Amino acid sequence: MLFQFIRRLSTSPLTRVRHPKLRRSTHYATLTDKDVNFFENLLPRGSVITNPDDCAPYNIDWIKTCQGQSQLVLRPKTVKEVQAILRYCHEHQLAVCPQSGNTGLAGGSVPVFDEIVLSFTSMNSIGDFDENSGVLTTDAGCILQTLDTHVRKFGHTMPIDLGAKGSCLIGGNVATNAGGLRVVRFGSLRSAVLGLEIVLADGSLLDCLTSLRKDNTGVDLKQPFIGSEGILGVITRVALACPLAMPGVGLGFFACSSFEQILSTMRLARRICGETLSAVEFLDESTYNLSLKNLKRAQSPIEPNKFYILIETMSSTEEHAKATLEKLANTALDKEFVTDGTLAQDLTQYQDLWAIRERVPEALVADGYVFKYDFSLPPSRMYKLVEETQQRMKPFSNVRNVTGFGHLGDQNLHLNITVKNGYSDEIKHELEPWLYEWVAKERGSVSAEHGLGLHKSKYLQLNKGEQSLVLMKQMKKMFDPKCILNPYKVLPYQID
Ligand SMILES: Cc1cc2nc3c(=O)[nH]c(=O)nc-3n(C[C@H](O)[C@H](O)[C@H](O)COP(=O)(O)OP(=O)(O)OC[C@H]3O[C@@H](n4cnc5c(N)ncnc54)[C@H](O)[C@@H]3O)c2cc1C
Repeated sequence: MLFQFIRRLSTSPLTRVRHPKLRRSTHYATLTDKDVNFFENLLPRGSVITNPDDCAPYNIDWIKTCQGQSQLVLRPKTVKEVQAILRYCHEHQLAVCPQSGNTGLAGGSVPVFDEIVLSFTSMNSIGDFDENSGVLTTDAGCILQTLDTHVRKFGHTMPIDLGAKGSCLIGGNVATNAGGLRVVRFGSLRSAVLGLEIVLADGSLLDCLTSLRKDNTGVDLKQPFIGSEGILGVITRVALACPLAMPGVGLGFFACSSFEQILSTMRLARRICGETLSAVEFLDESTYNLSLKNLKRAQSPIEPNKFYILIETMSSTEEHAKATLEKLANTALDKEFVTDGTLAQDLTQYQDLWAIRERVPEALVADGYVFKYDFSLPPSRMYKLVEETQQRMKPFSNVRNVTGFGHLGDQNLHLNITVKNGYSDEIKHELEPWLYEWVAKERGSVSAEHGLGLHKSKYLQLNKGEQSLVLMKQMKKMFDPKCILNPYKVLPYQID
């Protein structure tokens, strides 16, 4: 079975080839026909995937930086099935990779070697929405966009929005504590998660599925699972506080000649738009050009410049949302913070402008192999890092673009280096650990929102003190004593 699999996917390098120092731990059992028979008897037809071609998409991550060799994908429909799967894996020492929409960008969502993929795509029944509290309780395998469409019927919206909303699942969002486009408005996803149902590594159920907004009864046990990327337990149901959807929305898109002017515009937006501000995003020139090319738009909607800032407002009335934005546009032009700009006049223009920002990840992948970084930095230092990286990459003729964009309102920089002719070890070594150390020196975060996954696990120590690492490892041992959940990710040397 294994040989056939390697042959079929040989065009894209395997994770174990790209990371030769990473060894499959002998601590884990190897899958047998007996194991497969067990799962076939346990789950309904169609929920057990062993055909190598059908397993392939579950082995490769969205950005194509990782490729595992799992020969078994399980797609349970109920929590009881998830419990039985994990109980068996725990007893037989089989490693498991939890997977939701597989849009993760840190190499956490696909197996490294032959871990069994536990896919949540079939656990997708939308649960109850309580109109009095605005709380949605639902299966973890529902697509974010589907949930948003659902709660909008009640005049609410999901507390998170991101470019991958059509594919990512709410359980994956919670497992990564995903950020996205509206953290400025709604805060981090963590603050909206009221309850979780979790299956622990040994199959036991941890029921923290309260839908209460207030509950100060002892230790809040769900918290460690939010953002722990599937290494402590798997999330099967979620209760979320959903904010009211605002009927009035405004969107402005402006060009600036320098990053300092971008920051001035953001500060002005905070003052003028006040409580209506709902998103502040920025793009540099190369990101912008790549995005327009990918969208096949020959013309820029505004007079081009070196930087672009997108500002969204929301209010209970359209007039208010638009009025604050207009005032911002006029003041920013008067003060010469911006050189040109446009305000969306209708839904089509609103969607067209948002697409320039939301579809950047797609544009980067179309440009070449992407070295992708996701840092939190003090705003005044954010673009300095992009400039220094551009200098550092100058000698490399295979580098296509060094671009910076991101969630400016949250001090979150996405730095990307696109390379022609695929992955390059030489470039990776020029970038790492230099970039991570640069960020640590500024007391930034080596992962603002994407998580650590496989790619960044060894840099966790740059952000967290020794005692934090000791406690994290103790927690891992407590929740998953046999280390079967998402091995080789997040915490380096989980098994030792
Ligand atoms: C175009 C694009 C735009 C993006 N924009 C953003 C953005 O703005 N902000 C942002 O934060 N991220 C962004 N991302 C990254 C990604 O979408 C998020 O990390 C998302 O939350 C992952 O959800 P998923 O369902 O795809 O999870 P997956 O990718 O399948 O899994 C992510 C991690 O969670 C674990 N996991 C998955 N499901 C469970 C579960 N039920 N229980 C326990 N562990 C689980 C996996 O093992 C893995 O470690 C973007 C990605 C793309 C492709």
